[in-house]
Amino acid sequence: MIENIDSLKELLTQPRKITITAHQRPDGDAMGSTLALSEYLSQFGHEIKVILPTEYPFYFEWMPGAKDAWVYPEHKEAADEWIKSSDLICCLDFNTLSRIEPMDAIVKEAEKPILLLDHHLQPDTFEWMLHDVKACSTCELVHRFINLFDAQAKITEECAQCIYTGILTDTGGFSNGATNKAAFDIVADLMDRGLDILYVQQGLNQNKTESRLRFLGNALLNEMVVNHELGIAFVVVNRKDAKKYNLQTGDTEGLVNYPLSIKGIEMSVLIKEEKSITKLSFRSKGDINVNEFARVHFEGGGHKNAAGGKSIYPPKWLINKITELVKKSKN
Ligand code: 5GP
Ligand code: MN
Repeated sequence: MIENIDSLKELLTQPRKITITAHQRPDGDAMGSTLALSEYLSQFGHEIKVILPTEYPFYFEWMPGAKDAWVYPEHKEAADEWIKSSDLICCLDFNTLSRIEPMDAIVKEAEKPILLLDHHLQPDTFEWMLHDVKACSTCELVHRFINLFDAQAKITEECAQCIYTGILTDTGGFSNGATNKAAFDIVADLMDRGLDILYVQQGLNQNKTESRLRFLGNALLNEMVVNHELGIAFVVVNRKDAKKYNLQTGDTEGLVNYPLSIKGIEMSVLIKEEKSITKLSFRSKGDINVNEFARVHFEGGGHKNAAGGKSIYPPKWLINKITELVKKSKN
């Protein structure tokens, strides 16, 4: 439930100017939730712009409304103007404004009321919040928002595709710990509204390049380090391979999950060298809390079993450091 929902409803009784945004390096849930909310709210005559802090992978280009979204650095001037003159800023699929760098500065400066829809742990406080860590995805919360907001909820086929994308990707195809009953209930509802599952599958998963698949093969064959004793595995993506396989935004998505398929591996870490930092992705099974691990050691966070972080150190150093930390925590 949203506290003060009446004041939000009041605000939205008239056509307004609205900014909708999601976290950097948007994933399926970030894309799905922003585009679904935009599609839904546009029925009421609002002027809406989806503005994403960084570019999104090409395999989201098919999503309804994706091509109209602005990538902040490419539209900085117009985006700054839009944000400054917005009546409402909707923040989706993130819990703190640093997650929308480099857009966070203008959002803070604009001092506009914010609506947060999110399922990450430990959120900051905003005017209106629909926050639930038990939600399988932010798309679940968009669906809930639509139903809270308007009993006559009109979910178009396009909106359904977007909501489904977020639920499908954040639950790892209805298989990871985030998967809940609502995921299935909502998808059943979306099917009633014309959702074409094969169309989404084609756009998301049958749309990638040969070099990405070869990159994946190489990463698992040559760049995976497995420590059976500690139940931890690493996959490294170095700059050399990124160049060799012409890696594009989003091409490493999902790679971190593979080591968890090994019996006895309880925690997996993807270590990706970027221009000036090393980006880390963590996944775990059961009670191993990678949100805490990423927060304490790598300026990151996320969910209990899926989190991210960053470091200034190179992959080799990080493998040693993380191995040491895990060893210590086991003793
Ligand atoms: P991924 O490993 O797929 O990039 O992210 C896993 C989860 O952790 C996602 O829910 C993502 O939003 C969150 N996450 C990733 N990187 C960071 C980070 O640097 N800080 C925080 N707070 N969350 C992150
Ligand atoms: Mn999400």
